[in-house]
Amino acid sequence: MTKFTDLGLAEELLRAVREKGYEVPTPVQADAIPIVLSGRDLLAGAQTGTGKTAGFVLPILQILMPQASTSASPARHPVRCLILTPTRELCMQVEESVRMYGKYVPIRSTTVFGGVNINPQIKELRRGVEMLVATPGRLLDHVGQKTVDLSTVEILVLDEADRMLDMGFINDIRKIISLLPKKRQNLLFSATYTDEIRKLAGTILTDPAFVQVAARNTAAELVRQVVHPVDRERKRELLSHIIKAKNLDQVLVFTRTKHGASRLAQQLDRDGIDSAAIHGDKSQPQRIKALQDFKDGAIRVLVATDIAARGLDIDSLPHVVNYELPHVPEDYVHRIGRTGRAGSEGEALSLVCVDEHKLLKEIEKVLRRPIEKELVHGFAPDPNIAPEPITQGRSGAGGGSRGPRSPRPGGGGRPAQKGHPHNRPSQRGK
Ligand code: AMP
Repeated sequence: MTKFTDLGLAEELLRAVREKGYEVPTPVQADAIPIVLSGRDLLAGAQTGTGKTAGFVLPILQILMPQASTSASPARHPVRCLILTPTRELCMQVEESVRMYGKYVPIRSTTVFGGVNINPQIKELRRGVEMLVATPGRLLDHVGQKTVDLSTVEILVLDEADRMLDMGFINDIRKIISLLPKKRQNLLFSATYTDEIRKLAGTILTDPAFVQVAARNTAAELVRQVVHPVDRERKRELLSHIIKAKNLDQVLVFTRTKHGASRLAQQLDRDGIDSAAIHGDKSQPQRIKALQDFKDGAIRVLVATDIAARGLDIDSLPHVVNYELPHVPEDYVHRIGRTGRAGSEGEALSLVCVDEHKLLKEIEKVLRRPIEKELVHGFAPDPNIAPEPITQGRSGAGGGSRGPRSPRPGGGGRPAQKGHPHNRPSQRGK
């Protein structure tokens, strides 16, 4: 088994890794780190939860280290690495990783994302940063205001590239790339291989190396999955019951709609379970506060939509609840990927009503096995209730999720049915 010390990383980086408590590199780290260090372009099929962030942050820090300067002069801190992410949450988390892994290295980093005041970002950029983590739209705002110079970038990372395409960022990405030096190293991370990703990779990467890993906690491993059959109108009651009976802390609950997320959080609050919702309509400060409260244990339940949950970095989340099954089986895999991260076990509970049997079948097809069903005493479904179509409202949300899933934010407006599971890279045979 590969050790961190085998990877050619400097002691300053190994020390930060040790302090983080990591014992061995994850597969994507073991594969990607030497490739990135060699200076090659990389196409990596890896989703959140695989340890991909350290897989690119560590070798990039190593590459930048020899020329890192302790001088205060901004001119000595040009932007040398640009990391593009689809969402502000991921942007913040990646930069947090840069700071963490780079704590013994004099390399500066900052974030640039929308939805917040631009001025503090301008101030940071003026100081000079070697590693810039950005969402595409706000980065282009800075370009327009000439508050960032991208002509010195040596390494470009596209993180969760498939999500960026889903969110309609392709033109922004192309614009940004046109501002970078032609000669540079490119790393592209994507959970799925759609034709669009292949096309993008073809235009951006030169002679890339490939790395493919399945999530460490693919459905089959680590995560205990259970379906609790229940009537659609009794889901909220059952959820409160389970949380109280099992005395669960730190539960991430998924709903299909933003509205459903907000309402459920309020209802749980009323049931005496401290909860908050996190979704696209929440302001940035609200999201940050909800996530922080959740991490600190100030709230027990975070109710999220699939989009908002993407990229949330919460270590070893013990419990995920599918309050409603997602329309796309792939989202189920993403959701349960939030638990049992990096080696610890997790539990994924799905509250499934009669309307969702078809969705459940599709998920089980992707998992290639049935999920264990467990009736909760007192909540057995009434066999006389007939299924209702989910797209016409009501299903699963206890009478409220209206219409099909809303389009992704950030332009494009395409529904989320992209990125089908058959596009998922296969598990590396290791
Ligand atoms: P990522 O896929 O980059 O979002 O990382 C998923 C989680 O795994 C994060 O919470 C990391 O802190 C954690 N992690 C990353 N690398 C390792 C490792 N080598 N050993 C244990 N945990 C890790």
